Amino acid sequence: MLMRFSLQRVKNLRALRPQVLASANSRFSTATEPSFNHRNPPRVPNLIGGAFVDSKSTATIDVINPATQEVVSRVPLTTSEEFKAAVAAAKQAFPSWRNTPITTRQRIMFKLQELIHRDMDKLAKNITTEQGKTLKDAHGDVFRGLEVVEHACGMATLQMGEYVPNVSSGIDTYSIREPLGVCAGICPFNFPAMIPLWMFPVAVTCGNTFILKPSEKDPGASIMLAELAMEAGLPHGVLNIVQGTNDIVNAICDDDDIRAISFVGSNTAGMHIYGRASVKGKRVQSNMGAKNHGIVMPDANKDATLNALVAAGFGAAGQRCMALSTIVFVGDSESWENQLVERAKALKVNAGTEPDADLGPVISKQAKERICRLIQSGVESGAKLLLDGRNTVVPGYEQGNFVGPTILSGVTADMECYKEEIFGPVLICMKADSLEEAINIVNRNKYGNGASIFTTSGAAARKFQTEIEAGQVGINVPIPVPLPFFSFTGSKASFAGDLNFYGKAGVNFYTQIKTVTQQWKGLPSGSGVSLAMPTSQKL
Ligand code: NAD
Repeated sequence: MLMRFSLQRVKNLRALRPQVLASANSRFSTATEPSFNHRNPPRVPNLIGGAFVDSKSTATIDVINPATQEVVSRVPLTTSEEFKAAVAAAKQAFPSWRNTPITTRQRIMFKLQELIHRDMDKLAKNITTEQGKTLKDAHGDVFRGLEVVEHACGMATLQMGEYVPNVSSGIDTYSIREPLGVCAGICPFNFPAMIPLWMFPVAVTCGNTFILKPSEKDPGASIMLAELAMEAGLPHGVLNIVQGTNDIVNAICDDDDIRAISFVGSNTAGMHIYGRASVKGKRVQSNMGAKNHGIVMPDANKDATLNALVAAGFGAAGQRCMALSTIVFVGDSESWENQLVERAKALKVNAGTEPDADLGPVISKQAKERICRLIQSGVESGAKLLLDGRNTVVPGYEQGNFVGPTILSGVTADMECYKEEIFGPVLICMKADSLEEAINIVNRNKYGNGASIFTTSGAAARKFQTEIEAGQVGINVPIPVPLPFFSFTGSKASFAGDLNFYGKAGVNFYTQIKTVTQQWKGLPSGSGVSLAMPTSQKL
């Protein structure tokens, strides 16, 4: 798999070489094969001004296959000089890219979506190797990002302005959406393809240039997507990639040439980035952590609801920001817990590459330790452990970071396992006597990413929809993530900023509105100078 990834990169690098060599001022130009292709394990390159280049940094982080602990590749901590070169390349590419016709920019996205389809399997394999999720789920990761690329193909319509003729005699006013300049995106580990695709396709089709900082845990998909974007015709310097962690993120926040930052990840990093970059006057959209609740009413369709809860709680080993991690059983529905346990037990834990895997490993040893600690804290505070996945060992993958489906019952709002985002295959069950009480539980939680209700009562669903304080609401839908013609609308502590990702809000985030007022009538002569404020009508 890795070989194929490298071969593809070599092929693209060969195609790029004439331009790389032509770039006389590039300190990264080379007439020989780039050094990162010869290393074992390979070093993940940066992408600067259209060339994939090895960082000079000796400090690296290992990308580790979570099912085997094999080192897949090494991520360099990009130097400050290299970071500045990436920003300079993006800045240099901006004037001609913003003046490139929107139809041309759209056509590159049309081509990109075709190429992503072509390489879907390769992308999915890379995701499974670096991130651990099952191959089927990895396809979903790519596919949900692809939908954003498809949406960006209609950018001409999406970024249309407004026009009002004759706002005053002979005067018209219209608005134009213009690109901002250099924008940046900082990604989490859990969706290595989808989240970069939430960011750069919308940003660049709006006419911006972009600096992408992939997660240091699984940067491979970002590199592959950038290769595809360049194959699709994205000019050099429009998309750049810098690898690294905190220092490079801080450099992104501080750089005066970067106008906007899209962030997806934890609250600790997200609030830090939001604060640090906002102080510098940047736009920031920050999608963060979650604790998504599913309220189960006694009148819900039992079979469909139990299936939905198991899929949404344990899919992707619970490492989705929209995973349903908390169930609030209302009234009698609490008695369904035993059947929930039976269905969860039937799930197969295995390496994501194995065809029978329902859930793969969690991302790292540290993540597993944290998940196990939070489960234990629940037990010690009085919760009942109905299913314990902590000691799961997968034959053939004994070193993998596996945690099997785990269910804690009798959880209360004061427990640490409830207050903290677990981000693992752990479902916690709570109890409420009424819908009112269940809604209050959800609303008292600090997060507001998603919440769902399972019921056959329209009245209950309507009350839930109206009163629940969550950005994304599901009615008999466990993971209500909107498709890209809407926006990803997390709220409360799950989001900081004003404009959400993708959809109309995403286009507004990556564009600045300009309002033009024009007058082309013949100016009356001899009317003299008037210092009064102009009005549109006679007073
Ligand atoms: P993370 O915050 O650890 O890392 C995200 C990015 O921030 C990485 O690129 C990382 O290098 C950088 N980073 C981390 N700590 C930093 C620091 N102190 N200073 C500067 N930069 C820092 O998140 P993760 O573990 O990769 O992802 C999981 C989290 O992401 C979960 O909390 C999950 O809920 C959240 N998430 C949210 C959404 C959403 O749309 N709301 C989607 C996916 C994931």
